[in-house]
Amino acid sequence: MLPTDFSPRFAATCTDAAARCYAWIGENILLPALPEHAASPQPATPSFSLPQADALISALGQPEADYLIGDRAGQACRLLFWPQGDAPDGYALHNLRAVHGSLDEGDFWIAARARQLVSWDREHRFCGYCGTATFPAPNEVARVCPNCHQRHYARVSPAIMVLIKRGRQLLLARSPHFKAGMYSALAGFVEPGEACEGTVHREVMEEVNLRVKNLRWFDSQSWPFPHSLMLAFIADYDGGDIVCQPEEIEDAQWFDIDALPDLPTRASIARRLIEHVVSEMRAA
Ligand SMILES: [Zn+2]
Repeated sequence: MLPTDFSPRFAATCTDAAARCYAWIGENILLPALPEHAASPQPATPSFSLPQADALISALGQPEADYLIGDRAGQACRLLFWPQGDAPDGYALHNLRAVHGSLDEGDFWIAARARQLVSWDREHRFCGYCGTATFPAPNEVARVCPNCHQRHYARVSPAIMVLIKRGRQLLLARSPHFKAGMYSALAGFVEPGEACEGTVHREVMEEVNLRVKNLRWFDSQSWPFPHSLMLAFIADYDGGDIVCQPEEIEDAQWFDIDALPDLPTRASIARRLIEHVVSEMRAA
C-alpha cells in the first residue's frame, strides 16, 4: 500500500534535485548498485537506496519523462523514465517485484505508482481517436491530443481474487506462467458491465467449475503489473467437482491448511489473503 505520509500529485515537469527519485529504463527500476558484500539482499532487510536525479541525468542524458508524482512527508517524489539503455556504472536495473523487501516498503509502493504511470505514458503516445502525437497535461495524469482534444487517462483494471474454503481446506490453483510449484487463490478481470461479485462467481465457474457462496470482502490492493486493482474476497465452497479451464489453469487442488504449497510473494494481496484465512481457521 502507498504509505500514509504520501500524497499523490502530478505535474508534467519536475526539476527538484532533492526529490525522492524513482527512475526507470524501460520496464525496470534503476537503483544504486549494492556493495559487493550485500549483493544478495536478504528479504525483509531494506538495503537499496533511491538514486539521485542529477547523477542519473548527467550519465544518461535528458529523460523522456520527468514527472512529479506526489510527495512523501513534504518531499517531492519524481519519476524519471528512459525508454531504453543500460544502467550506468554504479547502478543496476531490477524487476520491481524482485526488490520487494529490499527497498523501503513505502518506496516500493510509490515505485509501483511510478511504474503504472510509465505504462500509461508509453501506451498513450498517440491519440486512439485520430492518431496525433499526444502531450502530458501539465497538472493531471492525462495525455492530451492537440488535434481533437481527447484526454487519455491512466488505466486501472479491476480484477477479483477469491480464496475458497471447504472444512480445513483451501482451493488453490496455478496458471501455466507461475513459477514451478507455486499456487495461489483464483483471480480474474472484471468484465465491462459486471459487478465484482458477479465476476467472482463467473471466474470460479470458468476456471475450476465450482459454485461458491457466502462471499466476504477482504481487502484491495494496487498491483502494478501492469495496472490492476485487486479486489479480494473469501468464499465458501457450495458444490461441484474441480475441472480446470484449459490453458488458464494448469492445476487446482484442495490443500489442507497444514500442508500448503509454495505461495506468492509477500508483496501480493494473495499472500496476505491466504495467511489471514489460515490464521482465522486455526483460531476457530
Ligand atoms: Zn486526437
